Amino acid sequence: MRLATARHTPSGRVVFGAVVDDGLVDLSAAVTDQSELISMVHDPATRPAIDAAVEASARVPLDELTWLPPMPNPRRIMCVGTNYADHVAESDRISAAPDHPVIFTRFPSSLVGHGDDLVRPSASTSFDYEGELGIVIGQTTRHATQADALGAIGGFTCFMDGTLRDWQRHTSQFLPGKSFERSGAMGPWVVTADEIADPHALTLTTRVDGEVMQHASTSQLIHDLTAIIVYCSTFTTLEPGDVIATGTPGGVGYARDPQVWLVPGSRVEVDISGVGVLANTVVDEPTP
Ligand code: MG
Repeated sequence: MRLATARHTPSGRVVFGAVVDDGLVDLSAAVTDQSELISMVHDPATRPAIDAAVEASARVPLDELTWLPPMPNPRRIMCVGTNYADHVAESDRISAAPDHPVIFTRFPSSLVGHGDDLVRPSASTSFDYEGELGIVIGQTTRHATQADALGAIGGFTCFMDGTLRDWQRHTSQFLPGKSFERSGAMGPWVVTADEIADPHALTLTTRVDGEVMQHASTSQLIHDLTAIIVYCSTFTTLEPGDVIATGTPGGVGYARDPQVWLVPGSRVEVDISGVGVLANTVVDEPTP
């Protein structure tokens, strides 16, 4: 099942539910929010109720929708840094793969949905792309083990961890450079975990204006999905709807010669096999 959130353009109403061929089945009357939805889809005891609601609920035509992040207001958005060897190699900040996952956070307001505009802020011109596999938690999880960690994943999404490199480097703390308003993206939807046979065998490709800039397999993750969930669930309780971006491969803009920065009109696509294609175009921050 593909779970999505969108604004119904004619009415301005936010709808969420399951994407089918010709529309979005609006489940916002059947469940409280997107976190409850992914939790119910993930739990075999409640999945039949959602399947029945999908059959019974109204469909909103896709051409009346503007996509929002599929999980628009998660309790947690965590991101893993330097988690592919070729990205470690191109980094001038570290010389070896970290022993533990590098974890930082993003604010929900830093993300837009598929097709929406990414915003290059007036405070910086070093706007960079990072294509990543995003995982969405499906069940409340604390102290996951090697054996059960993958069972916590409710689904997968495409994630663009857009970064203002100068602001990332002001201090040792990444957050400001990673949380500019509307500087990243997630979507178009969450593909539920039952549809992905092996999440460590997905192909991730990032294109800018049609040119391939990053191309990798999730088999190359240094800290794999199991390790990430074990680590994060040791310090916090992961809850349904929480999002973890799992790291970006080599090929980011700042490490290129010459460097590549996103500018107004740049089109960024994050394409993950079996998950989808997240595409966004950059605009400049409007003058206040
Ligand atoms: Mg990243």
